[in-house]
Amino acid sequence: MNGVRITEVAPRDGLQHEQALVPTDVKVAFIDQLSDCGVDEIEVSSFVPAKWIPQLADASEVFARIRRAPGVVYSALVPNERGLDAALAARADKISVFVSATEGFSQRNTAGTIAEVLLRVQPVVRRAREAHRLVRGYISCVVRCPFDGPVHPDKVAGVAARLLEMGVDEIDLGDTIGAADRSAIDALYEGLAGVVSAGATTLHLHDTSGRAIECAVRAAELGVRSFDASAGGLGGCPYAPGSAGNVAAETLVDALAARGFALRARADRLHAAGQWMRRAIGSCER
Ligand code: MG
Repeated sequence: MNGVRITEVAPRDGLQHEQALVPTDVKVAFIDQLSDCGVDEIEVSSFVPAKWIPQLADASEVFARIRRAPGVVYSALVPNERGLDAALAARADKISVFVSATEGFSQRNTAGTIAEVLLRVQPVVRRAREAHRLVRGYISCVVRCPFDGPVHPDKVAGVAARLLEMGVDEIDLGDTIGAADRSAIDALYEGLAGVVSAGATTLHLHDTSGRAIECAVRAAELGVRSFDASAGGLGGCPYAPGSAGNVAAETLVDALAARGFALRARADRLHAAGQWMRRAIGSCER
């Protein structure tokens, strides 16, 4: 089994980082281009209160207007039950919930302790499953936290275990500030052994330190078969100082394909879509 899945996170994780408000038309056109890039999944938007992230206030409209390509999963990030109601109404195929591995990031990014956020997402996971949606459980700061420093893999394993108990289908591990190197990836998956297999995780890498590709390759050697990436490397994280750059999807696809992994995603098309979006964002800023 050497097939690798790619989830395109640029429409949500990329755009939420942009200052200039991107019109709904542009988002829809971008997602429609991504649907033709061979990616397995697209994180379309987030159903958060508009006052938190004004950029994504049009999530319902975006979902209503995108063209859905057969075989592509269209997902949404959901912070609470109200967000879930909107995501279900918008026919999101998959629901993502978000928890941090560290207390510092949890307070600043999700306004609560880890325990409080786990309690908040529990009914979201339960109801999403009752509605026959797939559920992804994000864990951020799996290697290092901008507020609390280095993160022990046991902390990550503890949060992953709680999410799996709730019934998430997939654990998505976020190196939120791009601090990982090959040995950190080894330590992370060693720490997770017994809780979740590498093949049941998705890895969300940032290229802040220029090591995202070597980390992805190492993770693939360890059995990871699902990665998040962003066309053109769009986006970072507004709550994490110094964390520029989701790993560029086209670079990741090329690197994994060169090592013999099989991907449906097409690097040339992802590159073109990313460049198109960069130009579109540039004209929004003027
Ligand atoms: Mg990211």
